Amino acid sequence: MPESGGIVKREAAGGAGEEIAALIARLYPICRSITGPGVRETLAALAEIHPIDLIEVPTGTKVFDWTVPREWSIRDAYIKDGAGRRIVDFKAHNLHVLNYSVPVEGRFTLAELKPHLYSLPDLPQAIPYRTSYYNENWGFCLPHEQLVSLADATYEVKIESTLSNGSLTLGEIVLKGEIEDEILVSTHTCHPSLANDNLSGLATAIHLARRIGRRRRRHTYRFLFVPGTIGSITWLALNEAKAARIRHGLVITGVGDGGPFTYKRSRRGNAAIDRIAPHVLAAQGERHAVIDFYPYGYDERQYCSPGFDLPVGRISRTPHGEYPEYHTSADNPDFVSVPAIRRAIEVIEEILVAADRNWSPLSRNPKCEPQLGKHGLYRKVAGQTGQQTDELALLWVMSLADGAHSLIDMAERAKLPFERIAQAADALAAHGLLAEGRHADAVD
Ligand code: ZN
Repeated sequence: MPESGGIVKREAAGGAGEEIAALIARLYPICRSITGPGVRETLAALAEIHPIDLIEVPTGTKVFDWTVPREWSIRDAYIKDGAGRRIVDFKAHNLHVLNYSVPVEGRFTLAELKPHLYSLPDLPQAIPYRTSYYNENWGFCLPHEQLVSLADATYEVKIESTLSNGSLTLGEIVLKGEIEDEILVSTHTCHPSLANDNLSGLATAIHLARRIGRRRRRHTYRFLFVPGTIGSITWLALNEAKAARIRHGLVITGVGDGGPFTYKRSRRGNAAIDRIAPHVLAAQGERHAVIDFYPYGYDERQYCSPGFDLPVGRISRTPHGEYPEYHTSADNPDFVSVPAIRRAIEVIEEILVAADRNWSPLSRNPKCEPQLGKHGLYRKVAGQTGQQTDELALLWVMSLADGAHSLIDMAERAKLPFERIAQAADALAAHGLLAEGRHADAVD
C-alpha cells in the first residue's frame, strides 16, 4: 500500500521529443470544436500513443443546467471578391471561420459583412480565434490589416457547415490502482488550430497516461480528454459517484510556451494537491508562480464548483491571456517548444506521483520512539556521517505519524523534500511501524 510509486525506474522523457513534435504537427490542422469529427479524429491520433475509451453522449442530453449541443461539421467556407478569388479561405486556415458557424450562402456588401468579421487591431497580422457555441451566428476571422484594406464592394460568402443531432465525444483513460480513490488529469480537446492552448495539454496528458500506465499505482488514475466547459460538465453530470472518489486532480493546459510554470490552486485552496504541486515544482528547481483560485479559466471551474468542490488545481506555464499569441493564429507549432512540453511531462509526473504517494501514517509504536536500530533502520555506527538526512526523515515521520499528518504535511514541517519523507515512510511501513491513518484528503 504505502510503498507504491518511485519503484519503477524513471523513464526519461527523452526520446519522446520527436513523437511530440510529430503529434503536434499532425493535430494542428484538424478543425476541432466542442462536437463533431475534429474531436474524434484528434482522439484517434492520441489513442495511437495510449488507448482511449470514447464516450458518446447524445445531442439533447440534459447535463445540469446545460444541454448537449448539436454536432458541428464543416467542409468549406470562404469570402470571394468580385474577381472570384478566395480572399478569406477556411481551407487555408481553420481559424478563419467563427467556430460553430451556422451555414450561410449569399452576396453581401462590405457594410452587411462587417458585423460578421472579427480581427485584432492590437495584433494586426494574426487571425483571432472566435467561437459562437451557444448563440447561433456565423462569421469570419481575419488579420486586421486585411480587414481595413477590404474594398467597399460586394462579396460572395459561403459557409458549408452542418449542425445536426449526433453526440458529444468524451475521451477517458482509467488506469486502475490498488485503491478506488482517484487522481484526475483533465485537458480540453475543443480548440482548432491552436498549439499551446490545446495541443500542448493533449500531448502532455497522453504521454503522462502512457508513462503512468507503466508504473505501480496506488490510486486509480482517470485521464479525461473533453471539450472545454460542456465536456467537463457532461462528464460530471454522468459520473457523480465517480467524481466523489477524486482525491487529487490537475487540469493541464498551455504548457508549451517558454514561460515558468504557474500552479492555480483549487477552490479549496488548501487541498493536498495545492501544497504538493508547489512543493514539487520547488524541489525540481523550477521557477514558478502559485496563484489562487478564481472563477475564470478552464475546466477547474466545473470540478471546483461548490456542488463538487473537488481538489483540482491547474498547471500551465504562462497563464492564458497573458501572452499576446493566446487565441490567435500566432499560437502555432512554432510558438511551442518541444523541450518545454517534455519538461512539463516530467514535472507533472513527479507531482502526480507525489500525490499518489501522499498518505497519513499512524505509528504502531506511538509511545516514545521505536528503537530504530532493532528494526534495521538506524545507522549501525553512531557518529557515522552521510546518512543524517535519512535518519532525520525517519525521525520526522515517526514523530508526526499520528494519523492526522499526511506526508506533505510532514515534508513542509520538516522542510525536507517530499521524496525523502516518502522514502522514509515506505521504509517504516515495510518494517511494520506504520499503519494507515485517516485519508489525507478525504472528501467529507
Ligand atoms: Zn482557449
